[in-house]
Amino acid sequence: MRVMAIGAHPDDIEILAAGTLACYRLDGHAVAICVMTNGELGAESGDRAAVAELRRQEAQRSAEIIGATLYWLGEPDGFLFDTTPTRMALLAAVRDFAPDILLTHDPADYHPDHRTASLIALNVRQLASAELIETAEPVLNSAPPVLYMDPLALTGTAAETWVDISATIETKREMLRCHQSQNAWMRRMHELDYVDYVDKQAALRGLQCGVAFAEGFRDARVFPVTANTTALLPN
Ligand SMILES: [Zn+2]
Repeated sequence: MRVMAIGAHPDDIEILAAGTLACYRLDGHAVAICVMTNGELGAESGDRAAVAELRRQEAQRSAEIIGATLYWLGEPDGFLFDTTPTRMALLAAVRDFAPDILLTHDPADYHPDHRTASLIALNVRQLASAELIETAEPVLNSAPPVLYMDPLALTGTAAETWVDISATIETKREMLRCHQSQNAWMRRMHELDYVDYVDKQAALRGLQCGVAFAEGFRDARVFPVTANTTALLPN
């Protein structure tokens, strides 16, 4: 299978689905991480372009840990909108990778960019197989199913399915540690340790399904209906 995870910021996928992506890789599947914005607001001061470049490098190092393809769309952090150019940029990335399944943010997530990324991913998923939308990349044969990742802090919605990531939690931590700029910033802003925070979230999901660590997902329920979408997840 080919699995594509679409997140708003350079560390979202690591926080919410890196353990699952690492499981897919262990099973021999191809994985892509698509980051929609530059994440250039993720610092207290300094030049935004420099922050964006640092974050792109951190995301690249993280993706390399599991051999994932990184797509970097470069939209402005905090101001992600479903415009024609943005939709076309994601459409090109989705067609280029040709995923069998898409993972993205929950539409009820707390962050505006997360909610917008979720919306654009859902919209593009439908349009990627429309033959009259011309791109350099080939049209998809069918629209891939979509699974929503947990919202951050697990607020708002309940997972419908759980992936046991006990075997890949250390890989997830390693990927998170690549985002050094964010761990330092989170410590100052929220007095929280990045890895500890994510461990707690994964441990709670694990508690719910009887394993040490897990990540939660729910089906976006799109047309055409895909039977048992959650069976496309690892385990
Ligand atoms: Zn984010």
